[in-house]
Amino acid sequence: MNQFAKHQILIVGGGAGGIATAASLLKRDKSLDIAIIEPSESHYYQPGWTLVGGGAFTQAQTRHAMASLIPKKARWIRSAVSGFDPDNNQVILADGESVGYEYLVVSPGLKLCWDKIEGLEETLGKNGVTSNYRFDLAPYTWKLVQELQSGVALFSQPPMPIKCAGAPQKAMYLSCSEWFKRKRLKDIHVSFHNAGAVLFGVKEYMPALMEYIEKYDIKLCLGENLIAVNGEQKTATFVVTDAEGNTREEVRQFDMLHVCPPQASMDFIANSPLADEAGWVEVDQESLQHKRYENIWGLGDACSAPNAKTAAAVRQQAPVVAANLFSVIKGKPQIACYTGYGSCPLTVERGKVVLAEFGYGGVLQPSFPKWVLDGTKATRRAWFLKENLLSPIYFQAMLKGREWLAAPKTKEKK
Ligand code: FAD
Repeated sequence: MNQFAKHQILIVGGGAGGIATAASLLKRDKSLDIAIIEPSESHYYQPGWTLVGGGAFTQAQTRHAMASLIPKKARWIRSAVSGFDPDNNQVILADGESVGYEYLVVSPGLKLCWDKIEGLEETLGKNGVTSNYRFDLAPYTWKLVQELQSGVALFSQPPMPIKCAGAPQKAMYLSCSEWFKRKRLKDIHVSFHNAGAVLFGVKEYMPALMEYIEKYDIKLCLGENLIAVNGEQKTATFVVTDAEGNTREEVRQFDMLHVCPPQASMDFIANSPLADEAGWVEVDQESLQHKRYENIWGLGDACSAPNAKTAAAVRQQAPVVAANLFSVIKGKPQIACYTGYGSCPLTVERGKVVLAEFGYGGVLQPSFPKWVLDGTKATRRAWFLKENLLSPIYFQAMLKGREWLAAPKTKEKK
């Protein structure tokens, strides 16, 4: 037997979902035996990367020592998971050791597939090619924005699913906002190349977003998927699909290119018995319990629930997983219900945000009454929330098990 042997509750991933679930469980009973398997020394507040790329946050604000966030009463196993043996209640670690569990929670996030775009990896961080999807590159976005005086700026969005589906647009709007302020925008041609067929999936937010598309004179190129980048020649190749479904390749010149990479489930999840056909951890979308293994739950970007993959979603998912798992330990029925809430604060200009909040099926789920904050409009209040409150809510509430704006709904009251 190895030193990790077995834990009552084992959590895979010390990101938003893993730590929030551990904290929420310990709020219910501090004597629970919980271990978190997490290889990274750093925990990243990824929603802050948009603000780093827009010059409103420092890079340092988005990285915290993992050791400072893992709840004191949970054990940290500093290793990566490489596989699962759910029939024997075992998780396999990268070094070949295994850890047993009574209950398992899976939240390792997703995989960014930079290599799916030919030539991209070797040019990221130079030649005007950047991405807010990486901690180390978000400051480069802001550097490029400050330096660009004229020319062509391209922003790309891959096919769904991606985490924070609004983030590719947010990078563009904040760049435009800066160029507008510096009166450079008239000399910079901006276009948005989205593999999807719409700018944003929930129609109620479209009028506010379209106002900014027009204000910044952004060319919307829908059905355009970035497939290759040549950094030295500063060209980007897109597969363009027309209304009839015909495809052709188009090569475009750029001075600045912001890329959102294609995304997929982690290989060790996709290749495991926990995965559904698409590779995600196969959970019931309300209880978040695994569909085939009743002592396993999944949440966050890795799970199959069809919500918008965001930290805001995790804020509501973690208490649901904690409540349901705790009920099972106590021999009670699982009644906590996740209704698909996710949120995307679209930073349409420096100082204003369109706060998209919606659940399954695109049904709006605003946190505030309209007179306090109307999420379908660009408002200063929503920017204040994004810039000043959401990070403390993440670190001081969500990761500490304080279920503010996230008390789990029950099946009857959903
Ligand atoms: P993560 O927080 O990514 O954590 C996964 C953890 O699992 C990591 O610590 C990782 O090291 C660990 N891990 C990986 N592999 C293994 C392994 N083999 N074994 C064990 N552990 C492993 N959300 C919002 O709500 N609002 C926003 O405005 C917003 N903006 C965003 C902007 C950008 C640019 C990005 C990139 C994301 C944004 N998000 C936003 C999305 C949000 O950050 C994620 O949805 C959220 O972090 C998901 O939490 P998670 O726990 O599933 O994954």
